Amino acid sequence: MNLAFDSLSADAIQWGGALGWGGLAAAPWPTWIKLVVGVLVIDLLQYALHVAAHYVPWWWRLHKIHHSDTSMDASTAIRHHPLELLVNAFVLVFLFAAGGMPLFAILLYAALQQVHALFCHANLGLPPAVDRWLRQVLITPDMHAVHHSIRMDEGNSNFGMVFPWWDRLFRSYCAQPAQGHQAMRMGIAELAAGPRLSLLDLLWLPFWKVGQAWAQTVPKSTGRRSPNKRR
Ligand SMILES: [Zn+2]
Repeated sequence: MNLAFDSLSADAIQWGGALGWGGLAAAPWPTWIKLVVGVLVIDLLQYALHVAAHYVPWWWRLHKIHHSDTSMDASTAIRHHPLELLVNAFVLVFLFAAGGMPLFAILLYAALQQVHALFCHANLGLPPAVDRWLRQVLITPDMHAVHHSIRMDEGNSNFGMVFPWWDRLFRSYCAQPAQGHQAMRMGIAELAAGPRLSLLDLLWLPFWKVGQAWAQTVPKSTGRRSPNKRR
């Protein structure tokens, strides 16, 4: 196992080496420490990228497809514009190379995030006591649901991807929606009055001028509103 890890580390060192720095992979630490530090650093980077996706206008145009869902369930986890995935991958690969991120940490985090994304977007109401305990170490569905609120003061909170600590550390944590989980609305205010969007509409959405009449911007729309199926 250690040989495999060392080999993977060597790859990362090579990447970082091109920039003249071995980074984390070259650190003289035991493998398990590099694994833990690597996973935490990647989660922090994901938090930072998520904040950027909300506050950099062109990035938000891509990311808002994820927020356009008016009801959150596990399928929301894969509701991302392909260009957003490409941008994220490009930025992360550059950051991983610059930081000499060990490949085994990247692979472990990727697996962890995929499973956790399905969990935290699930239409799942954990008992309050369990939620309170779990969200000390992991982002829960209720904690992430606040991030999908139609109110942007709530939507611009709880940016964390897997671990809840960055939101608490950088003061972007919001414990509960003001209206409660039963009454809160999800989605994006600018789309709330519009019709239900097709897959093609969503793919084109980043390139439309927000604020134009829906009749002009969504020619293929059906005019139906999507039901809010989450609690
Ligand atoms: Zn977001």
